[in-house]
Amino acid sequence: MENIRQILEENKVILKGHFLLSSGLHSDTYFEKYRLLEKPYLIGEIIKTKENVIRSLGITLCIGPLTGGALVAFAVGRMLKVKAFYMEKAGEDLLLKRDFLIGKDDRILLCDDVMTTGGSFKKMIKCLGPDATKIHGFFVLIDRSVASCEEIVPLISIYKTHAATYEPENCPLCKQGVPLEKRGSSPTPRL
Ligand SMILES: [Zn+2]
Repeated sequence: MENIRQILEENKVILKGHFLLSSGLHSDTYFEKYRLLEKPYLIGEIIKTKENVIRSLGITLCIGPLTGGALVAFAVGRMLKVKAFYMEKAGEDLLLKRDFLIGKDDRILLCDDVMTTGGSFKKMIKCLGPDATKIHGFFVLIDRSVASCEEIVPLISIYKTHAATYEPENCPLCKQGVPLEKRGSSPTPRL
């Protein structure tokens, strides 16, 4: 498989501008993961590059948050031939519904699309409660975190990068008056 950065660029995943991230931080770089997630065949190929390390964890269940993280969990689940569940937003928290039942011997891989602060993984851990002891790894397509987090170990990523992030009050792009863009919040224009 070609270089992962090349694939991200070819698929217009890496965008430059002034963006509000779901973590609340601002950045000059946005990873439009849906340009990957809309291509299941490509996601499958990309994830396969980490198949050995994922398999070494002995995972029996993948879980990701709606929407992007769930698509990633299902892609990993397909590769491993194991179940995949999704968590749904409930206010500030995540919830497991749909009678998705975690078995006593399950070994869980938590999945997501892009990690910035790890907030989404922390919400997933909180949602699992006592079942959090069954977590045996974390998987993310794009790891753009600046600091590692001891709760999120081992973390497997397809692409690791250090794109700049700013607290809104210290954002140089805000100071320059560059309009702030929140991706994915408005309807797609029709061609
Ligand atoms: Zn800003």
